[in-house]
Amino acid sequence: MNAVDVQVRAPDIDERFLKDWSGLVGGMPSEVCRPTTTEQVQAIVRRCAAEGRSITVQGGMTGVSGGAVPATDDVVINLERMNRIEDVDAVEGVMQVQAGATLQQVQEAAVGQGWLFAVDLGARGSCHIGGNAATNAGGVRVIRYGTMRDSVLGVEAVLADGTVVSSLTRLVKNSTGMDPRFLFIGTEGTLGIITRLTLRLHPPMGELAAAWVSAKQFDDLPKLLRTLKRRLGPALCAFEFMSDRFVALASQLTGQRAPLDEPVAWHVLIEAAGTKGQSMDDALQEALADALDAGEITGCALATTGAHREAFWRLRESIPEVLTHLKPPATFDIGMPWSEMAGYMNEVDAALRERLPNAQHLFLGHLGDNNLHLISGPLDAQGHHLVDEIAYGALRGRGGTVSAEHGVGRLKKAHLDITRTPGELDVMRRLKRALDPANTFNPGRILD
Ligand SMILES: Cc1cc2nc3c(=O)[nH]c(=O)nc-3n(C[C@H](O)[C@H](O)[C@H](O)COP(=O)(O)OP(=O)(O)OC[C@H]3O[C@@H](n4cnc5c(N)ncnc54)[C@H](O)[C@@H]3O)c2cc1C
Repeated sequence: MNAVDVQVRAPDIDERFLKDWSGLVGGMPSEVCRPTTTEQVQAIVRRCAAEGRSITVQGGMTGVSGGAVPATDDVVINLERMNRIEDVDAVEGVMQVQAGATLQQVQEAAVGQGWLFAVDLGARGSCHIGGNAATNAGGVRVIRYGTMRDSVLGVEAVLADGTVVSSLTRLVKNSTGMDPRFLFIGTEGTLGIITRLTLRLHPPMGELAAAWVSAKQFDDLPKLLRTLKRRLGPALCAFEFMSDRFVALASQLTGQRAPLDEPVAWHVLIEAAGTKGQSMDDALQEALADALDAGEITGCALATTGAHREAFWRLRESIPEVLTHLKPPATFDIGMPWSEMAGYMNEVDAALRERLPNAQHLFLGHLGDNNLHLISGPLDAQGHHLVDEIAYGALRGRGGTVSAEHGVGRLKKAHLDITRTPGELDVMRRLKRALDPANTFNPGRILD
């Protein structure tokens, strides 16, 4: 292989290799390599190791933590040409793919063989399955299927010295010592470049039953979720809450009317699905009638057609429009126990409205996964710093995390001690030193 064949050199580098969705401004890399095979990745890494070059690893550039944004003179390795679906075992429900396949490609390949790939998120058309693994992506189905960590059976990765670690196991259970998968899932390209994966597939879901409900106070939402979990069990597959301000802006930007007109503090998009051929409409309706009687919700709209359901999701998935409208925004994906969320939001919202009255501050999240998103904007650099201070400051002592699904990247590393103990940080540093002593891969991400 000739590494020169897969490079674009500065100044001919397209802007799309310079930025992700974080808004972070990086530098001009010296070259962008777009390999098509693991051997090509290995050759580029070996050359960089010999020349003492830093490497930025890139997937689909939909990250919001700045992890894939290059620094000046970096060598970029972008996986977009490694996008082959290599094999689908349609009997066992296992897929083998190259890391640059988009999430949507993976989902469609699974459907084509009568299976479901369960991780799903709004950036599905652009994000890579390797990027999803590197960030341990969550998305809208975690409540039922878990995060990427639960859907990856095996990984192949290239280490900073060019060694290829092949751990492409297809086994659900494997108790033979350390599991190399977990060195690469969620470590954001700091320990290795994921080149191929084996993925666990699930049986297809039955028809989705969807509802949009309203609640007057956040404290009602954990009770509602408990009711739905008890009534629907594993059929519950989405519980997406949104503040009234988020829904109002989403509605304005998309032209999609909110399903319930009454003025309420909180909206929740709920979905349930049984097995193929089984309808969950009645079960969901009955569970919500109970919630209404118990005062956990104030209103409810059931989707009676696929178009209704899509209209509900159009509002929830208006994040790109919201981020563009609030440009430059600050985004957070913190996590904490359910019992802390209402107190946290009251404290943070009051502080933000007092100190940054000209910006909008919107809350939404995936309650079942302890995940709370905050979007604030537009913000200048000083405003951004202030929001960071308020949002992360209020998280201390609440048993939470500074990143539930987007990763640490360059933006959250200063706050990592809120989430991780000194012992955990020490283990992370030791692993980084052991596997990448020259700090070749993604320097300055997660840890300094
Ligand atoms: C509209 C929108 C909605 C989103 N919704 C969600 C959501 O619901 N849940 C969620 O979790 N995230 C969400 N995200 C964030 C983002 O899509 C995820 O973090 C996604 O997993 C990033 O994948 P990517 O391929 O774009 O990675 P990139 O942005 O390219 O990279 C992210 C990090 O992973 C590393 N990386 C990428 N590929 C590899 C590889 N092959 N090997 C090693 N390291 C690698 C990069 O170096 C970087 O540190 C959303 C983003 C947008 C824009």
